[in-house]
Amino acid sequence: MQPPWRFRGEPLALEWVADGWHLRFVQPYRATKVYRCPGCQQEIFPRTLHVVVWPEGETSQRRHWHKACWERRFAELRRAARRGPPAT
Ligand SMILES: [Zn+2]
Repeated sequence: MQPPWRFRGEPLALEWVADGWHLRFVQPYRATKVYRCPGCQQEIFPRTLHVVVWPEGETSQRRHWHKACWERRFAELRRAARRGPPAT
């Protein structure tokens, strides 16, 4: 992961935080179910490296994402945050 992501937690847990988001890598051997990625609406197949992301402190909102889909969404969120709220 690249800045602004910061390492968080145990090295083997592969957890990162940035901008109020918490991210954890799911290693292929731990990925035993099929998930629906919110970024592309496609399935994340078992045995695939992917990420789980949630707003820090709100683990009930955990979602599984393809890593590339989350990176794209995160870049959008950061662009939107830099622009600020739309002018009225
Ligand atoms: Zn996806």
